[in-house]
Amino acid sequence: MKIRTLVQVIESHPTSDGAGVKLRRSLGSQRGVHVDPFLMLDEFYSDNPDDYIAGFPSHPHRGFETVTYMLDGHMRHEDHLGNRGDLGPGDVQWMTAARGIIHSEMPQQSEGRMRGFQLWLNLPSREKMKPAAYQDIPAAQIPVVKLSQGGEVRVIAGALDLGGAITQGPVNGNGARITTDPSYLDVRLPAGAEFGMPIAAGHNAFVYTYEGSATLGAGAEAKLLPHRAAGVLSDGDQVHAQAGPGGVRFLLLAAKPLREPVVQYGPFVMNTREEIEQAVADYRDGRLGSAA
Ligand code: MN
Repeated sequence: MKIRTLVQVIESHPTSDGAGVKLRRSLGSQRGVHVDPFLMLDEFYSDNPDDYIAGFPSHPHRGFETVTYMLDGHMRHEDHLGNRGDLGPGDVQWMTAARGIIHSEMPQQSEGRMRGFQLWLNLPSREKMKPAAYQDIPAAQIPVVKLSQGGEVRVIAGALDLGGAITQGPVNGNGARITTDPSYLDVRLPAGAEFGMPIAAGHNAFVYTYEGSATLGAGAEAKLLPHRAAGVLSDGDQVHAQAGPGGVRFLLLAAKPLREPVVQYGPFVMNTREEIEQAVADYRDGRLGSAA
């Protein structure tokens, strides 16, 4: 058994995106700061409608997946294919943009709290031009597992393995296994509580603390991950975390790395410059998300 240690802290920085939505970006805040295959993680959290009301009007994506996880508030998603979905507290939208989606993500509230995350997950080169697909996952379909030391885990993707008691998340790639085999867990621990589980060796993993802080690793190897930072873990086959004095809520993400070149231009993530130029031309000419 090899417990993963904290090897890099990627702090989150305030930024804005869409038509001026205020958010905090950790992964993706600087060029090349990724945890392959995870490209970007944004946290949005505000009680002030001025910070979110403008939303994310019509914009394209190609070459990867976007995963939206709402904690509070209500967003509506609409795309150029006529798909529409409402996201409320605890809901997840797993969108495989692949060859192309043009969509909007707009708040459906003019007051109150808006809080959640958007994660960008890369696709392998051979899947970047497959047709777009969705999985809309209502909160009620996401298992919530109580922990023996208090707290709980919501299992969005992959499996939670507590001493061999396995809980599978609902994300299934529309029936096909997702090549990067992602795990997406939302963990809440009371002050001082410990949490550990296996994660496949060879998968890249990181933790994002969105309430409180935690130490990662065990014994002399334990290191503090501060509030609102992404902590990249070493390779190993186990993750171990202990909540700080105020308790902690964190996202735990793990997936199989792609080890392919990443060329990003805004909302397009491909392998080569030529493919990016093609994406820009396809978007300009109205061919981004049409059939091949
Ligand atoms: Mn989008």
